[in-house]
Amino acid sequence: MTQSTSQATHHSASQPDRESAAIASVPTGLYAGGRWSTTARTMPVHDPSTSEVLTEVADAGPEEAAATLDAAAAAQAGWAATPPRERSEILARAYRLMVEEAERLALIMTLEMGKPLAEARGEVAYAAEFFRWFAEEAVRIDGGYMTAPAGDSRFLVAREPVGPCLLITPWNFPLAMGTRKIGPALAAGCTSVIKPASHTPLSILALAEVLERAGVPDGVVNVVTTSRSNDVMTPLILDPRSRKLSFTGSTEVGKSLLELAAKTVMRTSMELGGNAPFLVFADADLDAAVEGALAAKMRNIGQACTAANRILVQDTVAEEFAERLTRRMAELPLGRGVEDGVVVGPLINAGAVDKVTELVGDAVGRGARVRLGGERIDRPGHFYPATVLTGVPAEAELCSTEIFGPVAAISTFETEEEAVAIANDTPYGLVSYLFTTDLARGFRVSHALEAGMVGLNRGVVSNPAAPFGGVKESGVGREGGFSGIDEFLETKYISVGL
Ligand code: NAP
Repeated sequence: MTQSTSQATHHSASQPDRESAAIASVPTGLYAGGRWSTTARTMPVHDPSTSEVLTEVADAGPEEAAATLDAAAAAQAGWAATPPRERSEILARAYRLMVEEAERLALIMTLEMGKPLAEARGEVAYAAEFFRWFAEEAVRIDGGYMTAPAGDSRFLVAREPVGPCLLITPWNFPLAMGTRKIGPALAAGCTSVIKPASHTPLSILALAEVLERAGVPDGVVNVVTTSRSNDVMTPLILDPRSRKLSFTGSTEVGKSLLELAAKTVMRTSMELGGNAPFLVFADADLDAAVEGALAAKMRNIGQACTAANRILVQDTVAEEFAERLTRRMAELPLGRGVEDGVVVGPLINAGAVDKVTELVGDAVGRGARVRLGGERIDRPGHFYPATVLTGVPAEAELCSTEIFGPVAAISTFETEEEAVAIANDTPYGLVSYLFTTDLARGFRVSHALEAGMVGLNRGVVSNPAAPFGGVKESGVGREGGFSGIDEFLETKYISVGL
């Protein structure tokens, strides 16, 4: 078994000061109607790389949280009537502020979530791009005009903001999952209440303050942080003033929220879990496939809905691929995300390390071979090493569960039909990847894969200008791209008698 031996270098003595200053810059209260207020309770935010408490933030109860929807509802008419150009310019200012303050926002994200600083910088850039994209979309909301087939009337079709929105985001992309919802909501003329994950509230709290400076009017964006998500969000979802629920998180929670939203027939967008297959055909450029697998597996330390969960390699090249991937994974430095060169940061919490440990144990118990890592690390924080397993049998628990850790699970297939059948044998359908140099196969398999997105000879698909989303139990709706704003618009048809 090869071990990951690289060590990350440590920063200068001023690093703790930089970290404290970044955390101290974040407002920690409940944000409603443009006002920051304290709540009766607070909750700690931990650094997953040390388990230490970074700060305390508001832990709102249902009554305190009600102020956020009150504010969003009160601001709705004014924001909807704000000229699209003005909404666009506010979004453009927010984009520029995020770019200017990228270093501070990235450090806050790394401290609360653990991802390497280089990835956090990438996420800040990605998150900011949603504001730029939707600043451009805000002034392109179109409509329609046509003559009725009978010729006796005219049809006007208008697009109107859906109304106050509830936005719920996960911890794994603390900033981008927020801007991917807030950007189109603002562009469409919707106000919102955003609830970030309790593990990572700081990125969204910092963003709220940036939005304030960018000129977002009071009440247009409101933030509630809480450790009691269910108790706090249920009354807000059932409140008839809420017109839209946009959720990113697990399929399990998504399903329960869909049931709740059904009570008021609320519009919903659901970006849920995945179980991405990563297919490597014998005719693939193996170097490109290895780099693609590395990107699709190790981004966010494997904690991504788009993570390559099942790596399926055609049997004739499987050993060569596994060797090359193992070599590359063994080179990845492990450590705190703030340290230079680190790629393998901590997992989000102790439970995540336990889950990955159990999944690897189960796969090994069923006959998988450990080529790298495979055992938890004895050090403070929630670390699990880069791990490669080969010969993973289909019955292994990790083939049907999101691993959410740095574990590459490799299995083999013989034919294209078999590869497609295995790839589609899951209730999820977020993203699939395939590597081949045969163009016809590339198109054929891309269309046969049951997924909302396909990475054809690419290990990364996310782009603010592209429609992100899944099929089957991976969700409903699309974020980003030209369709992203549709999720926040209603269509109104006016029949004009002549
Ligand atoms: P999660 O447990 O479903 O939580 C997501 C969010 O929902 C958090 O803010 C959470 O708050 C909140 N929440 C939980 N239960 C709730 C309830 N009963 N009512 C209202 N809100 C509730 O997911 P996670 O562990 O944070 O994120 C990982 C999951 O997200 C994975 O399954 C991943 O695949 C998925 N994901 C999907 C996409 C996509 O675009 N498709 C992107 C990223 C992640 P608390 O933090 O307080 O629990």
